[in-house]
Amino acid sequence: MDRGFASSFVSVVPVGDVSQEICGTVAQEVTGTIGLVCTVSPETLDPRFSFDSKRKQYSSPALLESLRMRSVERAVRVLGLADVDLFMPVLTFVFGEAILGGGAAIVSIRRLWQSFYGLPENPALTRARAAREAVHELGHTLGLIHCPYYSCTMRSTRSVEEIDLASGGLCGPCRRQIAIVVGGLLGSDQEPAHRSSTQ
Ligand SMILES: [Zn+2]
Ligand SMILES: [Zn+2]
Repeated sequence: MDRGFASSFVSVVPVGDVSQEICGTVAQEVTGTIGLVCTVSPETLDPRFSFDSKRKQYSSPALLESLRMRSVERAVRVLGLADVDLFMPVLTFVFGEAILGGGAAIVSIRRLWQSFYGLPENPALTRARAAREAVHELGHTLGLIHCPYYSCTMRSTRSVEEIDLASGGLCGPCRRQIAIVVGGLLGSDQEPAHRSSTQ
């Protein structure tokens, strides 16, 4: 890895068993949409430490903290891509979670498969959903909050149906806000700025 480049890229970390194909699609979409080079980490994160035996799910905050630790030295942002089902204490499940204006985010692909809902599998649709969720959560790490525009990637979604409806890409204002924050990150060679214009 080129160390001089380390502060200006996004690292996708597979959490559990996630295919290279999905990781690759996500990395490509993040690079193209956010404007930070996104690469897939050769190291994976084993999620077993975050398993809750009562809920039979994995703790999103615990995994997020582990990913955040990796963001300090290795990349400006770290995105975990998990094959396991995630929860937060007050919610039944989460598609993903992010530190607002912070170093890490996580997305679960578990509920992005059509077979999760008893439907015939559509791998291309799952990859597109994963890419959309990745940009959404990374948008939060860049300081963006939820967007009222119906089809914007930063819209709040609670189901795959809503994720599919919010597949119009980033709206103009969200795109501009990301460009400003990313411009700031690329302009500083040392520590990431962690700035947020929404707080
Ligand atoms: Zn969100
Ligand atoms: Zn928007």
